Amino acid sequence: MQCPKCHSGMLEQKVLTQSGEVVIDKCERCSGLWFDSGEAEKLKDEWTSLSIDDGDASVGRIFNEITQIDCPRCLKTMVSMSDPKQPHIRYEVCKDHGVFMDAGEFSDFREMTLKEAFDHILDLYRKDSPPTQDDKEPE
Ligand SMILES: [Zn+2]
Ligand SMILES: [Zn+2]
Repeated sequence: MQCPKCHSGMLEQKVLTQSGEVVIDKCERCSGLWFDSGEAEKLKDEWTSLSIDDGDASVGRIFNEITQIDCPRCLKTMVSMSDPKQPHIRYEVCKDHGVFMDAGEFSDFREMTLKEAFDHILDLYRKDSPPTQDDKEPE
């Protein structure tokens, strides 16, 4: 899979959880993280023991400025959203496939419990309201 932000390769990272093996994708270059929707749900209770988000947050902040990205699964434009509880955290969501976060953003989320964070994200993208923040610009 290609990183939707910097188009470098993403490496699969296998994580053993109580509900089975979960594979997430991590960019080799910008350390952005991709979570498929189902993966996020499996990880949410066990996240605190993980150290997947070990990328450089300063690099993450640079890539955080890139908000027009396509879902690596379906190639549709993802919705860029700021987190209502922690507005400095901005991530991209495909409501069908998952969430992309820049390096450091998950570490920020640890300030909430991870279960809370994932429930919160899943809630946000399950809402059926049309994506209004997503101004599509021609390439
Ligand atoms: Zn990348
Ligand atoms: Zn998608």
